Amino acid sequence: VELKPTQINKLIGNITDMYQDPEANWQVNAELDENCPKAIVDSSRLRQLLHNLIKNAIEACATVESAQIVVSTACEDGEQLQLRVCDNGPGIPESSQNWIFEPYATDKPKGTGLGLAVVRKIVEEHHGQISLESSPDKGSCFIITLPTIARER
Ligand code: ADP
Ligand code: MG
Repeated sequence: VELKPTQINKLIGNITDMYQDPEANWQVNAELDENCPKAIVDSSRLRQLLHNLIKNAIEACATVESAQIVVSTACEDGEQLQLRVCDNGPGIPESSQNWIFEPYATDKPKGTGLGLAVVRKIVEEHHGQISLESSPDKGSCFIITLPTIARER
């Protein structure tokens, strides 16, 4: 893991661009705060994290008519950058919110159950935090906080 100060908005935009598909029943959009300080990240690990979360969101939205997946950044706090991956899928019941991060935990016939275990590991590598906001009618948001260079000043 090679942590470096990085303007992650561009990295996020490059990833969400990869998911543009006019034929799909879902859309992946980025809503980026342009004023955030650089976050301290390993770019390739952060890309992996984003793919895992976006892929899960798309899979969760399989039966949603017009699925919206939004990757956003915000930095109100200054010393931390908040990265959110939100969807308007079925949501995650509170009783599932712990097991889904365990390795090999899946409810998909061909799932590996590794996506979120890897996400959790990557967040730990970054000395960040992850939380989940979800309700059955609104969908799910995975919220990741990452240290920024502002903390070092
Ligand atoms: P896999 O995708 O192989 O099942 P993951 O670790 O990526 O493994 O996800 C574990 C489980 O978490 C999924 O099987 C699913 O039940 C649940 N999950 C993950 N992301 C979402 C989401 N955005 N909406 C609803 N459920 C989700
Ligand atoms: Mg997955």
